[in-house]
This record gives sequence, C-alpha cells and structure tokens, in this order.
Amino acid sequence: MTTLAILTAAGSGTRLGRDLPKALVALAGFPLVVHAARRLAASGVVDSLVVTCPAGLDVAVRDVVAQDPHVDVPVRVVEGGATRQASVAAGLALAAPGDDVVLVHDAARPLAPPLLVRRVVEAVRAGHGAVVPGLPVTDTVKRVVPVPAAGGLGVERVVETPDRAELRAVQTPQGFDRALLERAHAQGAARARAEGRAATDDAGLVEALGEAAYVVPGEEAAMKITTERDLQVAALLLGEAS
Ligand code: C5P
Repeated sequence: MTTLAILTAAGSGTRLGRDLPKALVALAGFPLVVHAARRLAASGVVDSLVVTCPAGLDVAVRDVVAQDPHVDVPVRVVEGGATRQASVAAGLALAAPGDDVVLVHDAARPLAPPLLVRRVVEAVRAGHGAVVPGLPVTDTVKRVVPVPAAGGLGVERVVETPDRAELRAVQTPQGFDRALLERAHAQGAARARAEGRAATDDAGLVEALGEAAYVVPGEEAAMKITTERDLQVAALLLGEAS
C-alpha cells in the first residue's frame, strides 16, 4: 500500500504582488513548490507526488520539481482548476490503484518539516481517516456579522467569542484514507454548498459528510506564505534551520 501526496501549486498568489504564480516565487534561490516537494520526499513516507500547476506551466513546474536532486520520488504534474478544491480533485483523479493514503499539501507552506509529514501519515495509518495538523490559537477569536449601516467605518457586530482553548489553526499536509477523500470530494462539496458553507480545506469536505476529522500537533515551520512579509519570515526560519 502506498501514499500519494498531492501538492497544490495552481494558485495565482496575487497577494504576493509578483508576476509569477506564488508556487514559483523563490525562497533562498528555489521556488516554494520545490521546497515543499523536497520535504515531502525527505519524509520517507511519500511514494509519489502529483503537483497541480497553473494552466500552461506544466512543463516549467515538472522541470523544476522532477529534476531537483532532492526530490527522489516519481513526480507527475497536472493542470489545476479554478479553485483549490478543483485542483485537488484533478490531482486525486491520478491516484494509482495501490494508493491507500493521500496527503494534500499546499506549496504555499514550503517549510512544513518531514517530521510533520510522518506524524500525519502515521495517524492516518493508525486508523484516523482524516488528519490535519493544528496549532493552538494565541489570539482571542470573535465570530462577527456585518452591521447594515456601518457607514464605511468597517464596524462589525460580535456574535460569539469561542473558547480559545478549543480552537486550532490548521495547516497542511492534511492526510486521508483515499476512499474517504474521494467520497468527500464527490459528495461533501455539494453538501457544504447546500449548507451555505464554503469548505476551505479538504478536512472540511470530510466533516460535511458527517465523518470525523482529527487534529495532530502542527509545526510553526508549516506557516503559510501569503504576503511579502511571510516570505521574509520563511527566509529567517530557513536561515535558523541551516
Ligand atoms: O491562495 P491560497 O494560498 O489559499 O492557496 C492555497 C494553495 O492552493 C496554494 O498552494 C495554491 O497554489 C493552491 N491552489 C491551487 N489551485 C487553485 C487555487 C489555489 O492549487 N485554483
């Protein structure tokens, strides 16, 4: 039985303000997608990689990822869809018959360490069908609704302050029993839409099916790169690690 990792790299990453798609932006001389692929391969628990890429960039992405000497697992590249969810579905369609565990990982989290990849796969193989890494939340979080006559001040009304101790900020890689993830993509997406909720991660689709999802401890290094500042923080983390 084998583990497939779907590495989502098809986003445009407009908030980084570069001409390049985010996954191809360089961090310490290498594209983000290469950093992420290296760490998935270094985990020793990933048997093959499918990378979702922006339209027209399949050759460029295949070249940088598959030819990297540190990415020593088979790599396939597929054009992603209009949404992250559609991109994951395109990757999932390439799963081989023996792939019983599927990881979904964002190229936007280039420094997720190999030990985190192992932790997630281990929890899935121990019988937890949907596993996400998560960190405790240090900010107090409020649930809000718009105020109809806010007058351009950006005022929102607080409806709830959830107990912070019960909250986790979740990361990738997220790991799944392959059959459960396929069912979640086939049915969970429609169910989440019907309930008026957008599933912003794959575990959310599993939850929309009414199936259990589990959290394992996350890692600070698995931070998501969205802004230029995040890129600078990642460069600092990389410097500390070397
Ligand atoms: O835009 P955001 O950072 O939330 O995207 C999360 C991940 O999903 C990124 O790695 C991005 O490349 C990927 N993505 C994708 N296909 C899309 C949109 C985003 O593979 N259509």
